[in-house]
Amino acid sequence: MIIDGKKVAFSLLEEIKEKIDKLNKKPGLAVILANDDASSKVYVASKEKHSIALGLKSSVYRFDKSITQGKLISLIHELNENPDINGILVQLPLFEHLDEREILEIINPKKDVDGFHPVNIGRLYSGLKPYAVCCTPKGIIKLLKAYNIEIEGKNALVIGRSNIVGKPVASLLTNENATVTLAHSKTKKLKDYTKKADIIVSATGHPKLITADMVKKGAVVIDVGITRQFDGRLIGDVDFEKVKDVASYITPVPGGVGPMTIACLMENTYELYMLQNKRQN
Ligand code: NAP
Repeated sequence: MIIDGKKVAFSLLEEIKEKIDKLNKKPGLAVILANDDASSKVYVASKEKHSIALGLKSSVYRFDKSITQGKLISLIHELNENPDINGILVQLPLFEHLDEREILEIINPKKDVDGFHPVNIGRLYSGLKPYAVCCTPKGIIKLLKAYNIEIEGKNALVIGRSNIVGKPVASLLTNENATVTLAHSKTKKLKDYTKKADIIVSATGHPKLITADMVKKGAVVIDVGITRQFDGRLIGDVDFEKVKDVASYITPVPGGVGPMTIACLMENTYELYMLQNKRQN
């Protein structure tokens, strides 16, 4: 069965819109774009479009190469203090001369809508509730649950160990009582691991890394990877056309994990607003 990320994301967005419509004051999301990357510009435009459609207050700060670390730090301090801003998102990567780590760490963890702050990552790893859970990993768990896919007791293989996808997905799956293996580019004989997995989450950006012969019959395959081909089409890490005949559930690219990421960003903004306005609501 093909997992329809667009459909699940759409109903999540509808739910969030209903909740936002009931608020007197609208949640505010600030997005900072400080790089020249074409994909980042597209992602930021999409975040802005969704925010507006949901009735959020959207503020996008776009900078050219002349932006300094100091100016960016001052802006984040201002946003941290601004009661109209509930979520702050720094689109990664930043221009090379900027220190990404320092920028992410000065965001107030209670406004860290991407869930990348060490406080939120630490809370996730220690089994405490983060103020916000990283959007793509959160979206993956929501997709599995939307299709009633059992996680507890399953062998889950996560391929990719980035801080924004692989490691937090592995942690969320562990919290859901899966037995998790985390593979990466130095993993030897990847097929030995994929063949044993009930759930495979691939987040590498390596097109067609996962072929049909690597997948156990009936496994669930979640493809996070996005690679733009020469003709402009997007493809994932999984050889979708062949793997779909072996897997019990599989996400397409596009239309699988991607729409969930943006829906979870909107949900995180709403949840942070509620957290910051506990007494008023
Ligand atoms: P990343 O930081 O580049 O990390 C990629 C990971 O994949 C690394 O851990 C790397 O291993 C591992 N890897 C690379 N080639 C491999 C191979 N041949 N075999 C096994 N492991 C391999 O990327 P990311 O930010 O996590 O993103 C991963 C992919 O997901 C990208 O295509 C990105 O565009 C996509 N993405 C999609 C969404 C969405 O909403 N759908 C959101 C975020 C990212 P090492 O650590 O050893 O280098």
